[in-house]
Formats: sequence, C-alpha cells, structure tokens
Amino acid sequence: MIIQRVVLNSRPGKNGVPVAENFRLEQSTIADTVQAGQVRVKTLYLSVDPYMRCRMNEDTGSDYLQPWQLSEVADGGGIGVVEESKHQNLAKGDFVTSFTWPWQTVAILDGDLLQKLVPQLVNGRLSYFLGAAGITGLTALLGVREKGHVAAGANQTMVVSGAAGACGSLAGQIGRLEGCSRVVGIAGTDEKCSILVQEMGFDAAINYKKGDVAKQLRELCPGGVDVYFDNVGGDISDTVISQMNQNSHIILCGQISQYNKDVPYPPPLPPDTEKIQKERNITRERFLVLNYMDKQEASVLQLCQWIQEGKLKVRETVVEGLANIGAAFQSMMNGGNIGKQIVLVSK
Ligand code: NAP
Repeated sequence: MIIQRVVLNSRPGKNGVPVAENFRLEQSTIADTVQAGQVRVKTLYLSVDPYMRCRMNEDTGSDYLQPWQLSEVADGGGIGVVEESKHQNLAKGDFVTSFTWPWQTVAILDGDLLQKLVPQLVNGRLSYFLGAAGITGLTALLGVREKGHVAAGANQTMVVSGAAGACGSLAGQIGRLEGCSRVVGIAGTDEKCSILVQEMGFDAAINYKKGDVAKQLRELCPGGVDVYFDNVGGDISDTVISQMNQNSHIILCGQISQYNKDVPYPPPLPPDTEKIQKERNITRERFLVLNYMDKQEASVLQLCQWIQEGKLKVRETVVEGLANIGAAFQSMMNGGNIGKQIVLVSK
C-alpha cells in the first residue's frame, strides 16, 4: 500500500534554529497484509512538542529520548483509527493513541503498544488526548501536584512562563483549581496575554517582548512569588526567581529558551540567580512527567472531568496536512501557537 510519510531531512545542529526544511515529505509503502497482533491504522492527529528539538540532534542529551535518524520516519504522540485489526483487544473503528506514532498517513502498528481512547471523556474532542487530556495535561497537573507545594487557603501567588503554550495555559488554571489565590502568566504576544486573562482566568499576564518584565512582575505580584511553573528558563526565569519568596518552589517543567543551545539539562542558573535560590531556600528539582506514569489513569480522569465541567479551558492551534508538520514544529518553537499545537492529518 502506498502512503505518505515525513522523515528527518537534516539536523539543525546543536546550536541551530530548526526550520521546516529539516523535515521532508515522501511517498513510501507499507505491507498489504496485517500480521497477528498488529493493526492497520489511519493517522488522524499528530502532536509537535518542544522535546522533539532534542531528538533532532544526534545526541539528544537525555537517556530517555532517542534521536531521530536521517531519512527515517519521525515519530511522536499520535492518534488514529483502526482500519483493520488482528489484535484481540482492538476492532475496526476503535480510536487509539501512542507516544511513538510514526509521522505517516497509514501505518501497521503492534496493537500491544496502543492505548484505546474513549472519545466521550473529552466531549468527542479526540485531539485533546494529545494535549489537555494527554501528556501535556498530565505534565501540568503532576508538575503542580508533585513539585508545586500548592495548598488551598495558603494565599499563594503562582507565576507561569510560556503561559499561553500547551502546558502553561493548563498549569495556570490547575494552579488556581488546586488553591493558588493569584495566577500571573508570561507570554510572547498581547493576544496571548488577553486570552490568558479573558478566557483562562489568569489574574494578569505580561508580554515579555514588551516593557520591563521585572517592574510589571513587582506590580502584579506585590506579595512576591510562591510557586513558579517554569517552561522557558533563561532571562525570564532569572527575573521571576529574583522575586520569589523564602521557601518557595519552582516547578522545573522545561527550558525552551535554551533548547537551541548546546547546554546540559537542566541548564545551571547564573551565579547571582543561584545565590538567590540558595539563600531563599527555593526548591528547583527536576520534573519529568514520565516518572509519574503510575498516576496517569487517575490524573487523566481528573483532567477529563475538569474539561467536561468547563473548569479547564482548552485552546489548540491546528495545522492541516502531514506536509505541513515541519512548518507546524518551526512555528511552535517560535511562539506561533496558542495552546497545544496539533497537526490534523486526516478527518
Ligand atoms: P508550548 O509552550 O506549547 O510551545 C512553546 C512556547 O514557548 C512557544 O509557543 C513560545 O511562546 C514559547 N517560547 C519559545 N521560545 C521562547 C523563548 N526563547 N523564551 C520564552 N518563551 C519561548 O510547549 P509545551 O508543550 O507547553 O512545552 C512547554 C515546556 O514544557 C517545554 O519546555 C517542554 O520541553 C516542557 N515539557 C516538559 C515535560 C516534562 O516532563 N518535564 C513534559 C512536556 C513538556 P511565546 O509566544 O510565549 O514565546
């Protein structure tokens, strides 16, 4: 059977900025027959995520991430529908997902590696299983719960960087649901800031590309910062940390501002910032959602419940067509997305 697929065309280099041309669409073939234990799936949605930048390097810098190989099909979070099944638990028409879905229109996959999805849990919005009800939502929820030390009634102020992105937009809302009394976001455009406040219930948002972030932060967080959900690292994080309170907590989710640089993860803080962190006893432990998968089932149900109740507002930026997945990735890395960046491969 003839299919379309996307392979890694070139590497951006450890210090390079990734571009759409790092990926290549090509025609390929898959077997006409499905073997025992396998299913043939049509790809519906694919996810593009910041961690993929590390997979573009020959050395990803992480033991849990494998590099993509040149001229081989890329993969990541995906959702599809079963077209033919020789797996005992999967039937034609079932919706399934995997973290290692190949970037191709149709694939033959090992049924044991797929998770069946229940669309009703997300009001039929299947793509949410890649975002708010998937690994992104889990990252936000478990990050807050495992590293945030949020306590209802404790009058805590939370700041979120990368706040209009997939994780950030959920993390701020979850911080509020879990008990923070004030939530302030930092994002890269006025439109994003407005969505955070108008739609997602943030108390305020700062456009870090305009004006003095430190000054705005002081005004918007007069009691200092108790919890910092850090998606970006770099200068923004140094500014936030300088306004954090004694015994406060950083949720070290990601450091996207450093991903095009050849630095270790997590990147060490500059000496002045590290001094503040130590003197004020600010926790900054590494957080990796994959270490908490024993909590996946209960946490996904919690996220789905909040979505159904309208307590968690979800935004997606959807790009159509497998051919555009490289452009979608490039755009997300440059701040082109609001909420989760999704690629619609087939309806
Ligand atoms: P995302 O926020 O949806 O997309 C990335 C966003 O980051 C962009 O839209 C952009 O928005 C912002 N950004 C890009 N470069 C920036 C820079 N130099 N300075 C400040 N902001 C910048 O991505 P996501 O999926 O939610 O991931 C967010 C972070 O969580 C990433 O660092 C990712 O690696 C991490 N993550 C961690 C785990 C874990 O287990 N720890 C799991 C998933 C994701 P602006 O317009 O605001 O610049």
